[in-house]
Amino acid sequence: MNECPGAQQIQSRIYLSPPHMSGCEMDYVKEAFDSNWIAPLGPHVDAFERELASRVGVPAALALSSGTAALHLAMKLLGIRRGDRVFCSSLTFSASVNPVLYEGGVPVFLDAEPESWNMSPSALERALADADRKGTLPKAVIVVHLYGQSADMDPLRELCGRYGVPLVEDAAESLGATYKGKESGTFGVYGIYSFNGNKIITTGGGGMLVAHDSEAIRKARFWATQARDPAPHYQHSEIGYNYRMSNLLAAVGRGQLTVLDDRIRARRTIFERYVAALGDLPGVAFMPEPAWSRSNRWLSVLTLDPNATAHTPGELLAALEAENIEARPVWKPMHLQPLFSGTLFYPHGGVAPEAASRGEPDLRGSSVSDRLFATGLCLPSGSALSGEEQDRVIRCVRRCLEARV
Ligand SMILES: *Cc1c(COP(=O)(O)O)cnc(C)c1O
Repeated sequence: MNECPGAQQIQSRIYLSPPHMSGCEMDYVKEAFDSNWIAPLGPHVDAFERELASRVGVPAALALSSGTAALHLAMKLLGIRRGDRVFCSSLTFSASVNPVLYEGGVPVFLDAEPESWNMSPSALERALADADRKGTLPKAVIVVHLYGQSADMDPLRELCGRYGVPLVEDAAESLGATYKGKESGTFGVYGIYSFNGNKIITTGGGGMLVAHDSEAIRKARFWATQARDPAPHYQHSEIGYNYRMSNLLAAVGRGQLTVLDDRIRARRTIFERYVAALGDLPGVAFMPEPAWSRSNRWLSVLTLDPNATAHTPGELLAALEAENIEARPVWKPMHLQPLFSGTLFYPHGGVAPEAASRGEPDLRGSSVSDRLFATGLCLPSGSALSGEEQDRVIRCVRRCLEARV
């Protein structure tokens, strides 16, 4: 049994979301070696861009060193400058917002709604109306699709359209997910994906910018390759970046893309198994999936209702860690981050905006993201997680939550 500390030591670690190779990555990588394309550009980069663009159904894509770089180039394309406001999802990873700061922009944070855990259309409606009244409409709205699930795009797009504000999608976590049958990341003017090591498919590190406007992708490609003017010598009229994806990593990406649908199926099955095995526990609920959403279930996330159980996510995290199982809290909302204290925040339920500064979540208030942060926990969700490994996680969660407090 697991009571013996010595036995626990030798149980191999279960990671949250480790890389899962298909095997055919090596064929592409070998081809890159054999042709000596060990370069920041090359035929695999071009092919990976074409294949991803065709997978999600956009005319143009740009392979980059990270999803963060892709979002930064989207900010550049939209002409974000010092003092420009950009509306952002609050419940997300900081990389969704940092590129706004790179260009001197000023974020305004919008709460999540409880159906999808993504940007609240009602918060966006109030924020846009306020901004319109004050003459401070944002230059862009960045919508995040959290944990592989699309935000409610129809009302969000309608609101952006009403005020003429361009919409950008941070689909870093949601490649392959759909909203009413259409691919996540293809609704906005620009969309970005990430191939970081923990994402649903990975190149070790990398990202992709997609657009319906091929001319914009051409411009972003110019910036991403050091902004070299077309001249025989090295001439530069604009700031450039070294943001391209290497040919070797694009080779890995091509291999990964061939199994994206398998990976989504596997992660959805893992999620359903958690629900079946743990859903009866008091206070336990799982991230919902609205009728219009087909999530890729990048991470399986549960919540513990403090009114129905005395156990806390922190306690569960520690119990899992004691058995060498990696779990993670839900993203700490941006409006609770020290970096963004004083930033304007529009809660889902309230009418008045608040200035972010509390640091700690407010559970009596009207903020959905505060509540999700305080009650949520991400469970191991890797597509290679075996049935026995998942049983180990399930046993540990049950033991922890069934214990008397
Ligand atoms: C991973 C992630 C990013 C950043 O992608 P990188 O490729 O790691 O730069 C951005 N936004 C969200 C929501 C993410 O999860």
